[in-house]
Amino acid sequence: MSEFEAPANGSRRSFLQLSAAAAAAMAFRIATEPSLAAAERKPVPPGAVVIDANENPLGPCDAARKAIADITPQGGRYSSWLTEDLVKAFTEAQGLKPEYLRVFPGSSEPLHFSVLAFTSPAKSYVTADPGYEAGMRAAKFSGARIAKAPLTKTYSHDIKAMLAVGPDAGLFYVCTPNNPTGTMTSHFDIERLLAEKPKGSVVLVDEAYIHFSDGISALDLVKADRDVIVLRTFSKIYGMAGLRCGMAIARPDLLAKLESYGGWGAMPITAVAAATASLKHEHLVEERKQLNAAIRQKTFEWLDRQGYSYVPSESNCFMLDTRRPAKEVIDAMAARNVFIGRIWPVWPTYTRITVGTQGEMEAFQSAFQAVMKNAKTVSYAPSLKKRPSYPDGQSWPSALS
Ligand code: PLP
Repeated sequence: MSEFEAPANGSRRSFLQLSAAAAAAMAFRIATEPSLAAAERKPVPPGAVVIDANENPLGPCDAARKAIADITPQGGRYSSWLTEDLVKAFTEAQGLKPEYLRVFPGSSEPLHFSVLAFTSPAKSYVTADPGYEAGMRAAKFSGARIAKAPLTKTYSHDIKAMLAVGPDAGLFYVCTPNNPTGTMTSHFDIERLLAEKPKGSVVLVDEAYIHFSDGISALDLVKADRDVIVLRTFSKIYGMAGLRCGMAIARPDLLAKLESYGGWGAMPITAVAAATASLKHEHLVEERKQLNAAIRQKTFEWLDRQGYSYVPSESNCFMLDTRRPAKEVIDAMAARNVFIGRIWPVWPTYTRITVGTQGEMEAFQSAFQAVMKNAKTVSYAPSLKKRPSYPDGQSWPSALS
């Protein structure tokens, strides 16, 4: 039995632990991009430019739309074999065994279940800051200490710092490209983390945005039976955020741990049919990757010409320097019908911008120009040449400072 497997005969203690965990899972609300974006967003008026939740304005591809229409008459049946078809399509393409994959209605669920399964009051949750916040919310329910490590000077996950802040880690969360910065953490660094992590801990590699980048996936590490869980979603490049389909890919004993918390329900057949059709579309990822990169590049060139700073990104979002408390800029932009955001407290004078269509980015540019012209610029903005400050009481691991 591996160190992650549940004992065959559950003891009273493990039963009680499971009950407590199940109760926590029932009681807590999963934090997702829309819930995090909505926390700062007022109701959006018609015609607004909404680039605050890393959504894909293109929506599902034509083949996915057709698959949804074709499957809808069968909506009265569970048709679980459709999920099996999706598993087959993905695992065969990746050279994985089918038992290494579980399909969920989005990747938010397996993200949260991973935190609940592998962290506890004795096993901390280690994350980058700024990083995607959902896992930190889940850690509040497992009672885990949340250990944050700043990004490196090039905005990748600082593996050395993550190891330094998490000697008691249960789970290391690595999001690459990172949300919100769109910056990469190398495969080499993930391998280093796996090699040096505390015994019994797991590395959760969130590849929600990997298709937008040239990054190397960690799926080979799953294939090699390492202590790693990879998350994928159809919400981003595939444009299916509202349809809900995601995946956890890992050794079967790690996946079994997640199942204690949920994910046993039937999948919506519309989501599964659309996901399978999207996977089978030969050029979809490359076409959308190129389009996103071109619009992002044009936006960066405009920002450069106007003298604004941003963190260079390989994803569909980036962090923009607002040169004053970012909340003021977000509100002023919203008054002009352009919804951006959100803010990460560790970088209070930056806001995240999602790359939308070219038209949306042009609307963003004119609104931003107007807002910044009217603004008093402030000298305390963290310069990109310096590391953004780390004001919430944590200090740099001494090896790094
Ligand atoms: N992981 C990251 C880094 C995200 O940004 C998101 C959503 O934006 C998710 C996971 C969850 O996405 P979903 O539940 O739509 O698959």
